[in-house]
Amino acid sequence: MLHALTIDVEDWPQSSLNHDLPITERAVHNTRTMLEIFRRHQTHGTFFILGLLAEKFPDLVREIAADGHEIGSHGYSHKAVFQIGPDAFRDEIKRSVGLLEDISGQPVRGYRAPDFSITEESLWALDILAEEGLEYDSSIFPVRMRRYGIDDVPRHMYRLDNGLIEIPMSTVVMGGRRWPVAGGGYLRLLPWALTRLAIRRLESEQIPTIVYLHPYEVDPAEFREIDHPVSMKTRLTQGLNRRHIAGRLDRMLSQFRFGSVAQVLAETSPETLTAATSPVAAG
Ligand SMILES: [Zn+2]
Repeated sequence: MLHALTIDVEDWPQSSLNHDLPITERAVHNTRTMLEIFRRHQTHGTFFILGLLAEKFPDLVREIAADGHEIGSHGYSHKAVFQIGPDAFRDEIKRSVGLLEDISGQPVRGYRAPDFSITEESLWALDILAEEGLEYDSSIFPVRMRRYGIDDVPRHMYRLDNGLIEIPMSTVVMGGRRWPVAGGGYLRLLPWALTRLAIRRLESEQIPTIVYLHPYEVDPAEFREIDHPVSMKTRLTQGLNRRHIAGRLDRMLSQFRFGSVAQVLAETSPETLTAATSPVAAG
């Protein structure tokens, strides 16, 4: 079974600390570290790239595309979808998709919201994505977390009435509840044996795993060198195990088959994408 490898390309201080901060070279260096790992494994992924970053470092977008990866949009500013509202959201989609297509020379088919910010308050975003010509969205976390997620929506891929395909983040069901697996902090903090078990479990359900990562997760030195005040709690949760993620990726990419979202969709038969008018109705 083919699983999806997805990378949200952004710079930690700008995406997580303050949206007014400039995007730094660090993001470029870290993305190159990841590209090198994927090259070694001859694996392609989907890079959801932030517009601000593409604007400042267009050569990086070209490098990602030249390596054969799929280019997707991560919006323009990294502000949450439910905070900026429909008009600004549409502007961000137009602007980021236009930029990425101009720079990479390839069509942008997919979108990932900053911090999974398509929630019950911002489901209107799914119609705007379809209207703006996107084919899929990969922004919904199908479990209620503190800052994001929606309960009682499908854990598998599905097609909405407006034509858009929703590709939710991976969760497994244990002890009667859903647990997020296989992305960001979950991938860094869970023991490899548990992650492997989760991927096998998803395979047995015929659900491709959607792994998501950020370039800064391969950067253990960032919090020692950062110029901005960062709380100890954030340093711990955001910084822990960064030095192990390259090894974790090596194991994952040697033990399972991974590809871009476009490749996973190409291997998915249309009948398996159950139709739904809204994610909530599909649940
Ligand atoms: Zn992000």
